[in-house]
Amino acid sequence: MIGGLYYINNEHNISLGTIVEFIVYVNMLTFPVSAIGLTASMVQRAAASQKRLNEFLDIEPEVRDNNSATDVQLNGNVKFEHVTFTYPDTGIEALKDFNLQINKGEKVAITGRTGSGKSTIAQLLLRMYNVEKGQISMDDVAIDNIKLSTLRSQISYVPQDVFLFSDTVENNIRFGIPNAKKDAVIEAAQIAGVDKEIEGFANGYETLIGERGVTLSGGQKQRISIARALIKDPALIIFDDCLSAVDAKTEKEIMGRLNKYLTDKTAIIITHRVFSLLNFDRIIVLDDGKIVEQGTHAELMKIEGGFYSKLYSQQQGTD
Ligand code: ADP
Ligand code: MG
Repeated sequence: MIGGLYYINNEHNISLGTIVEFIVYVNMLTFPVSAIGLTASMVQRAAASQKRLNEFLDIEPEVRDNNSATDVQLNGNVKFEHVTFTYPDTGIEALKDFNLQINKGEKVAITGRTGSGKSTIAQLLLRMYNVEKGQISMDDVAIDNIKLSTLRSQISYVPQDVFLFSDTVENNIRFGIPNAKKDAVIEAAQIAGVDKEIEGFANGYETLIGERGVTLSGGQKQRISIARALIKDPALIIFDDCLSAVDAKTEKEIMGRLNKYLTDKTAIIITHRVFSLLNFDRIIVLDDGKIVEQGTHAELMKIEGGFYSKLYSQQQGTD
C-alpha cells in the first residue's frame, strides 16, 4: 500500500516493477521463515523420542559375557548342580536345588505338569537368565564361562511358542545358517515331516509366510520351527513341547526319523505325550521344580501310583 501511494504521488522514484519485485520476494521469503519454526518443533519432538530410545539402549543386559569367557567346542555333556532359580519378575521359584546329569549322546525326555519347570530348564541351558544358586555346566565348563554366542550357536532349541518371520518358508528354515544350501533346507523339512505340505504350497519353498502369504496351521508352524533347528549341526538339541499341535501318528513318524538324525547328539525332549517316549534312554518327571521320578519307561511303569504310570494309562485310555 505504501509503495502504491509513493507511486501514485510520484515520490521516491518508485516504479511499478519495483513494487511487483518486492511482493514476489516477500512471498519467497515467507515459506523458509515459517519452516524454521516448523523445524524447531520437529527437532524438539525428535529429541524427546531419542531420549526415550536411549533409555532402552542404555540398559545393560543382565546376561553378559564374562571377561574370561571362552570359545569351546561342545560335545553335549550337560550338568545341573544344585540349581535354584527364581524368575526375577514374578518371584516364582521354578527350579529348586535341581540336579541333573546328561551324557553326550543321551536322549532324555522330560515330562510333568504345566508349570513344573520344564521350559525353565531349556531357558537356563541357553543362559537366558543367570542362575542364582548352583551351577550349570557343559562338558565340565560352567556356562557362565562360555561365550554366549558360542553357547547358543551350538544348541538347537525349538521353543514352546513358535516364532516365524514374515519371510519365505525357505528363509525361515535357514534362519540359523543364512548360507545354507537349498538341499539342506529340503532335508531338514523332510526330517521334520513338513516337506510334502511345503511342496503343496503355490510357490513351494518360496511361499511367503504371514500376513502377505499363507496362513499356516499350528502343526505346520511347529514343524517348520523344528526344521529350523535341524539345519544346524548342534551338540545339544532341545525340543520344548514342539509337537503338541501335531497329531499322534505324524508325531510317531517324525520321532522315528529324528531317532536317526539324533544318533550322536544329546537331546532333551520336553513333552506331554507319554506314548511317544518309549525310545528314550531316560525319562524324567518334574514336579514343582524338582525331579520326582526318573528312569526308563519300564522302570517308571513299575512305580505304583506314580505320576508317569498314571499319565501313561490315562493317555492310553484316550487313545
Ligand atoms: P513348564 O514348562 O513345565 O510348563 P515353566 O518352566 O514354563 O513350566 O514354568 C515354571 C514356573 O515358572 C511356572 O510357575 C511359571 O509360571 C513360571 N514362569 C515361567 N516363565 C516365566 C517368566 N518368563 N517369568 C516369570 N515366571 C515364569
Ligand atoms: Mg513349558
